[in-house]
Amino acid sequence: MPKISIVAPMFNEELGIAKFISSVESVMVQNSYDYEIVLVDDGSKDGTFEIVRQCIGMNPRVKAIKFSRNFGHQMALFAGLKYASGDFIIMMDSDLQHPPEIIPKLVSLAHQGFEVVHTIRTSTINETFCKMMTSKCYYWLINKLSYTEIVPGGADFRLISKKANDVFCALDEYDRFNRGLFSWIGFKSTSLEYQAQDRFAGKSSYTFKKMMSLAMNSITSFSGKPLRISFYLGMLTLGILFMYLIYVVTCFYYNEVARGWSSIIFVVAFLGGVQLISVGVLGEYIYRIYNEVKRRPHFIIDEKL
Ligand code: UDP
Ligand code: MG
Repeated sequence: MPKISIVAPMFNEELGIAKFISSVESVMVQNSYDYEIVLVDDGSKDGTFEIVRQCIGMNPRVKAIKFSRNFGHQMALFAGLKYASGDFIIMMDSDLQHPPEIIPKLVSLAHQGFEVVHTIRTSTINETFCKMMTSKCYYWLINKLSYTEIVPGGADFRLISKKANDVFCALDEYDRFNRGLFSWIGFKSTSLEYQAQDRFAGKSSYTFKKMMSLAMNSITSFSGKPLRISFYLGMLTLGILFMYLIYVVTCFYYNEVARGWSSIIFVVAFLGGVQLISVGVLGEYIYRIYNEVKRRPHFIIDEKL
């Protein structure tokens, strides 16, 4: 009987975490799986960890790690995967948006020999229009830019085998975009559709800032295309300005030099814009290099239960 590890990051989930643990437990017991639940407290400011402590007292199969501060969802997931000891590892959100009821389906696909089983959310109950649109635009953009295919609607809800997990954990990069890395590592994989649920309790902690940071990480760690685009943009500008230069020289030749205030403003503003964008793109990549070379630990653990 293979052992199944459930890995779930938590950030301010005090209202729903007990319900999450009991829902997972009941699915595991119903299917008589050998299992463990690895919870990672990503620096919650509420009573999440105390509730988890009580749950561990009642069920020794529950394990928990507490970060010294908020390191972000992607790092929390990474930590949980490093500590998971199962033959199959399932990562999922701890707010019950990822229904534990489909765990048996994931496991049966793993028994068929798939090393990675992705899930694709067909829709989310009560999803806001804004979140749906930003998600659609984001997946369109990342797939235009990235060399690795990122499946739209994919969340960090998937099953991986021990073999895939070992490979994943050996990837040491700092700005992690786990979704992309799981596509990147390859292996025999498949996907399963599900309908995402409404949050059981509490509110989403993926703020606009956190989403932007994830989007930036995913683009810069999976594609150098923005650098190339800024180069092409530079070439294009040079071409246009060269033609403009011919026009200017012609004007000069015919003594028409007094006009031209608006064209000067145009050239200055246009060039300034293109240069700033290019420098910004460069800056994003240099910032990533800077992060990598510091070689700080990915996360700091305050307590282990
Ligand atoms: N989460 C985390 N660290 C964070 C933000 C979120 O560990 O800084 C966890 C959170 O507890 C949840 C999962 O990541 O289990 C997804 O977060 P959330 O539900 O807030 O995002 P959404 O589902 O709205 O995209
Ligand atoms: Mg959620």
